[in-house]
Amino acid sequence: MPQPCPPHRMLGPSRDAKPVSVLNQATPSPVLSDAAPTPRPSACPGLLRIVAARDGGICRIKLPGGELSAAQARAIAEASARHAAGVIELTNRANVQVRGVKRGEEAVLIAALVGAGLGPTSIAADDVRNVMISPAAGRDPSALLDTRPLCAALLAMLQSEARFAALSPKFALLLDGGERLARVDHPHDVWLAASRETDGVRFVFGLAGCPPASASASAAANASAAAFSGSPTQSDHITTEQSHANGTGPLAAILPSQASALVRALLLTFLDLAAADTTRMRHLLTLHSAHALLHHAQQYVDFPLTRNVSPADWHRSTPADAGLRLGAHAQRQPGTWHVGGQPASGRLDADTLHALAALSQQHGDGTLRVTPWQSVLLPDIATHAVPPVLSGLNALDLACDPAQAITRLIACAGSSGCAKSLADTKTDALRLARRLPAGVEAHLSGCPRSCAAAHCAPYTLLAAAPGLYDLYRRDRHDGRPGFGECVARQLTIDQAADMLDRLARSNTNA
Ligand code: SF4
Repeated sequence: MPQPCPPHRMLGPSRDAKPVSVLNQATPSPVLSDAAPTPRPSACPGLLRIVAARDGGICRIKLPGGELSAAQARAIAEASARHAAGVIELTNRANVQVRGVKRGEEAVLIAALVGAGLGPTSIAADDVRNVMISPAAGRDPSALLDTRPLCAALLAMLQSEARFAALSPKFALLLDGGERLARVDHPHDVWLAASRETDGVRFVFGLAGCPPASASASAAANASAAAFSGSPTQSDHITTEQSHANGTGPLAAILPSQASALVRALLLTFLDLAAADTTRMRHLLTLHSAHALLHHAQQYVDFPLTRNVSPADWHRSTPADAGLRLGAHAQRQPGTWHVGGQPASGRLDADTLHALAALSQQHGDGTLRVTPWQSVLLPDIATHAVPPVLSGLNALDLACDPAQAITRLIACAGSSGCAKSLADTKTDALRLARRLPAGVEAHLSGCPRSCAAAHCAPYTLLAAAPGLYDLYRRDRHDGRPGFGECVARQLTIDQAADMLDRLARSNTNA
């Protein structure tokens, strides 16, 4: 599924602001030197590159591990209210973006954000993609290891090694610690997943896909029930190259201490072999086998890189459960909980972000986690504080129960924010929420670029005209990209709700 950036015109960055800081540290920022290069052309927003959309500029702020301190949240809220439209969007890469940046106020907005320690370490680093980890990393009781230190090391490496500035902003890395609260259905260019072996924890890795779940476990996880079967198994022989819908599938297992070196080797391999217009690993795999890529990467590491995992055998041992992002759930640390809620359309206003910052300071550890489901998590809430935090989230109109329809709907910016959109997807999603059948997840997209859904949604409403959508259904076991089969065209939102209800019933009765 494509993950393009919306069509924008670049407004910034302003070199007048000259700000760049250590990534997401709440310390004052050093300024860029006059010799700093201008950012490379890209359609993707960054903090230093504000790009124009129909509703004003978009400034995207990368949050390492999705983490945002209360002070930084306030800085974003204030900057958004003063210099933009006061709309803060949570993204499906666990970042935030300020929408509606006013023309002429880009530099002062950037300076305010950088002053809060939210800036990248260099202009090139503004383009470096985040490393995706669980929002409950280090806290999830099912995790096999804490991925946060490795995530920090990888981000530091990505930003400090000059060659990596050549990677596309879309190039994506996933570190899966084996948490139950994990988004493992987004394809990533490189993924590593923790695996318990007889002699300790290893990282299994693959290219251009996701850590696989067994079919039965996927279905069970989707229903928030049951567990995966089986455990990782390995074989020593190199398997025959297979056509794998999920990228390469699992390739090999390495020690956690080798993970940084492995990722570096794979990224250098990509840069060595990819043509200038090859931006993603899946494209490179059309020209080179996974075996050839591993063979090339071997020169960069001092441990053996041979395929040693049988793709047919390995899958995650823990079912991922997206429902854990909502409501209160016990953490690994006794007597503490993470509490989460989801705003409609993945958007917050400035007052709500201020209130979330206050909640986290009063009852949590003074930080928020943005999740890749466009929701917010407050970690380290003591047992006695769970009820007031849940009440606080509900009072802010954040949904804390997976039964609430807005938690099962995603929509792109739509015609209010994007010139390409054929419909007002955000407003139509709210309308559909009133009639969305129980258990149904749907995605509304203003055009085929599918900005809102990096994963493959079970149902997609693709805009055909204002208020009219073509409905697509996708089998969850279908590994191919795309929206799936078109089951009806030119539906109004009410007709789409009726059709989704019929389809959901027929699935249940099957
Ligand atoms: S219409 Fe939606 S999916 Fe298409 S480019 Fe715009 S935001 Fe992205």
